[in-house]
Amino acid sequence: MENIIVTGIRGLPLIKKGDDIAAMICDKVSVEDGDILSLASTVYSKAQGHTRALSEIKPAERAIRLGKLNGEDPRFVQAVLDASKEIILEHPFIMSELPWGHIGVRAGVDQSNIDDGMVIFLPPDPMKAAEEVRNRIEKITGKKIGVIITDTCGRSFRRGQTGHAIGWSGFTAIRDFRGDTDLFGHELKITEEAVVDELAGFANFVMGESNNGVPAVLFRNCPVWTGHNNLYFSPAEDITRRLLKEQHPK
Ligand code: GDP
Ligand code: MN
Ligand code: MN
Repeated sequence: MENIIVTGIRGLPLIKKGDDIAAMICDKVSVEDGDILSLASTVYSKAQGHTRALSEIKPAERAIRLGKLNGEDPRFVQAVLDASKEIILEHPFIMSELPWGHIGVRAGVDQSNIDDGMVIFLPPDPMKAAEEVRNRIEKITGKKIGVIITDTCGRSFRRGQTGHAIGWSGFTAIRDFRGDTDLFGHELKITEEAVVDELAGFANFVMGESNNGVPAVLFRNCPVWTGHNNLYFSPAEDITRRLLKEQHPK
């Protein structure tokens, strides 16, 4: 097996609404069949105009209350509420479920890497976003690649944020090891590896968080895997979600 090569894509400008990011990336790097491109959700959203000016947001009663409770700008809180399908936790920070199944702190709404007074929303349909970018790159280059849309997210049990896959196209989210045998011939009964999150985690490491200016990362020579796309627990399976909801009935 060949070594995996990971390349941060440098030299991209500040992304504005209307930019064709896929084309801009293809100008900077040559892609090959089987490559995997990780793209920060931030730049996809900026290119698509999924942003708002705080000055245009009028906070309603709940946003004002939670803004006071959590020490945050009520207009920002209103943006978070608007992006959410269901609030899981109100305090010390808002954690909510988005319409496409992701549960995240502040609904993934960002105020960094954009002009003062602006917020960036996660893409409204990150699976579609990944597919769009993949198709666009195939159209430009003729190459079939996989695409992951990432966001930096916190997690339970541990300090520190890592990159998570919020959308993907070209492969399954999970590599299913169930039924394989280990080095000793034992059958694996449980292991489903969330490959898209592992790749997103490393891509996020290459991107950095602040002023690195590397919103895209290309992986070459990754092994191919098979599995399924059920990355998100259903509400009935999700123990953490259930316990949080029981504690904070809203
Ligand atoms: P998120 O994890 O999707 O919320 O995105 P971040 O704000 O953490 O940014 C990820 C990477 O993309 C960092 O290296 C940023 O410096 C870079 N980045 C963010 N916006 C832009 C942009 O408009 N242009 C370029 N070239 N890089 C950007
Ligand atoms: Mn983010
Ligand atoms: Mn980030």
